[in-house]
Amino acid sequence: MDHSIEFRADEEYAYELDEEDNLHYLRSRFYIPKNTIYMDGNSLGLLSQDAEQSLLRALEEWKTLGIGGWLEGETPWFYYAEKLGAMASVLVGAAPEEVVVTGTTTVNLHSLVATFYEPQGACTKILADELNFPTDLYALQSQIELKGLSPQEHLILTPSKDGRILEEDTIVALMDETVALTVLPSVLYRSGQLLDMEYLTQAAHERGIAIGFDCSHSVGVVPHHFDAWGVDFAFWCSYKYMNGGPGSTAFLYINEAHFNRHPAITGWFGYVKEKQFDMLSQFTHAQSAGGWQISSPAILSSAPIEGSLHILLEAGIESIREKSLNMTSYFMYLVDTLLSDDPYLFSLGTPREKARRGGHVAVEREEEAYRICEALRMRRVIPDFRPPNVIRFAPSPLYVTYHDIWQVVQYLKEIIDKKEYEQFSTARKAIS
Ligand SMILES: *Cc1c(COP(=O)(O)O)cnc(C)c1O
Repeated sequence: MDHSIEFRADEEYAYELDEEDNLHYLRSRFYIPKNTIYMDGNSLGLLSQDAEQSLLRALEEWKTLGIGGWLEGETPWFYYAEKLGAMASVLVGAAPEEVVVTGTTTVNLHSLVATFYEPQGACTKILADELNFPTDLYALQSQIELKGLSPQEHLILTPSKDGRILEEDTIVALMDETVALTVLPSVLYRSGQLLDMEYLTQAAHERGIAIGFDCSHSVGVVPHHFDAWGVDFAFWCSYKYMNGGPGSTAFLYINEAHFNRHPAITGWFGYVKEKQFDMLSQFTHAQSAGGWQISSPAILSSAPIEGSLHILLEAGIESIREKSLNMTSYFMYLVDTLLSDDPYLFSLGTPREKARRGGHVAVEREEEAYRICEALRMRRVIPDFRPPNVIRFAPSPLYVTYHDIWQVVQYLKEIIDKKEYEQFSTARKAIS
């Protein structure tokens, strides 16, 4: 690919890009580990001052109000999950009541699939893909088992030709009359491919199939238009590009066309809000995404999301996407230009087309990818490694600079020039 018209490889140019960047000022609102280039925002986003403040406020309310916080907090805790959902709805093209902060990613997947998966007659299968994050596949298998069916037979995994990319048309070709539900990721966690959710939703609906997306790897860095696309449901975590903190509460989206469906996994916080404390024994769910809540909202694991959302909304998701694409394009240009020839031999696993890219770049190397990753860590760069040979870099548009990207590529070059990776063990740690 020729990007020479777009970019240059010199250091001065990286500084120029930072100067021209109108989101650059947000970086100072984040706590960036000292002397570190943090490229792992797609695994755990960093803490911002805004998120710290909203968390400290929740703690202060607990300190000073005790149980009173449920109704007397600045945003009463009783309404907090719905309020944060409404704030986030702008990021995903939804109405405020279609989104709620609740549960965890995998639990929300269980709850939504249990709600939407209704095997009947010959229409019994769930269509997914072989590249999805393992937890999604484990959950889908157990949902099939809960219906008394065998995952071997009823979970169809769209194959990938090269282990990186899924072709939308291959997925669509598998949407036959035996498929009851389709569940797919928005962005593939390894290659960073962004699937065409609009096209897939349309194809599923033309065949009478419900469709839901796991958007853990895209919300906060890619705009979504769930309502316009007609997506049936979606769920995503808040600790990656949304910077909500480790294990922070997740999100779910239900298209309002489905508000009257019965939530499959019920609990008292899904009850009609005004009547929840009537404590009746018969369950009636709220006609909103809130109806899919199960338990008391995890206020302390939700509070940081409020501050984070302020930053995301202030920046604007369209501007974030524009910067993100420019950063990943620049990264890819530098890898192509400086790191593809012998002895460097790095290549890109991420699609070239902008419309098919999420927020990260997958850099591959046949040999030594793991130890190169370790050498990067010694130089205080935080990427992550996905076996067998992928190093992922997520330049968050909120706190990573263009110069960081230039620097990382420079380091990779030096690590190979000096064979710096040779000093590391090939044994992998528990978390990479
Ligand atoms: C990060 C991620 C998850 C995480 O699941 P948890 O239940 O939050 O641990 C699930 N699915 C995908 C696609 C992810 O990227």
